[in-house]
Amino acid sequence: MKCPYCIKGKSKVVDKRDIPELDTIRRRRECLKCGKRYTTYERIELTGLTVTKKDGRRESFGRDKLLSGVLKACEKRPIAREHIEKLVSEVEAELRSREDKEVPSTEIGKRVMEKLRDLDNVAYIRFASVYREFTDLRSFEKELTKLRKSLEKRKGKHD
Ligand SMILES: [Zn+2]
Repeated sequence: MKCPYCIKGKSKVVDKRDIPELDTIRRRRECLKCGKRYTTYERIELTGLTVTKKDGRRESFGRDKLLSGVLKACEKRPIAREHIEKLVSEVEAELRSREDKEVPSTEIGKRVMEKLRDLDNVAYIRFASVYREFTDLRSFEKELTKLRKSLEKRKGKHD
């Protein structure tokens, strides 16, 4: 576990909290080199899911990889880290509850997008643009139209 501030190793754990519903352990760490404190979320990887990519390649499912994609989309957005962790855990739980242990990467992307749409519009569009690989303005506009419609629907509910 490298310190994100000085990029040196070795830290001591100063606080630990289990988040059972996420199967996650949150650790507050202190760097032994620079003394700065940071938080890590650690999780035991469960094996068994295989992701099939559009080009036919297969790889084992990695929660960290999924998380980093979502984190990237949520960068500088006012979204609590725990909401992001929760989203990723929900998607993972959904995938694991499937009968089929081979999951197309498109299915993962779809599930993340559905949840991001409710969480943050900007993060949603960012994720969609990477995942859908918008190659032209038209497909991007189509996505925006979908988002606008779902927002109007939600607004209607609250009025
Ligand atoms: Zn450090």
